[in-house]
Amino acid sequence: MAAHTRTGSCHCGRIRFEVDLDADAPTGKCNCSICSKLRHWGAAVKPDAFRLLSDEADLTDYQFGAHHVHWPFCRICGTHVFSRGEIPGFGAFVSVSVACLDDLTPEHKAALPVRFANGRDDDWGHPPAVTGHL
Ligand SMILES: [Zn+2]
Repeated sequence: MAAHTRTGSCHCGRIRFEVDLDADAPTGKCNCSICSKLRHWGAAVKPDAFRLLSDEADLTDYQFGAHHVHWPFCRICGTHVFSRGEIPGFGAFVSVSVACLDDLTPEHKAALPVRFANGRDDDWGHPPAVTGHL
């Protein structure tokens, strides 16, 4: 399947990135503690498919728990544009915020396949019983 280079940004525009996404790659939503708070809607790629176009210094980092994953956000506007890290058994990844992709139409975003994960119960391979709030 063909990968397309997409661009994304935070609300104020300070943070900008490019990501190579397969057209029909699944996106993910999860009910873990941070994904549910942020309503993070992610598209995960290998790190070499992601390019931060702006200055790392404009990101404020956030980590919690086992510190496998970074949840950086724009230091100006607070938008979470991606998460990144390395999870044992899964490998290194960047999960870009689908909501922050600038060149997908609302129709395209709405048609993206979504895979739900029950992260709250550490059951990442299955969807939670309730997903409508995610
Ligand atoms: Zn910003």
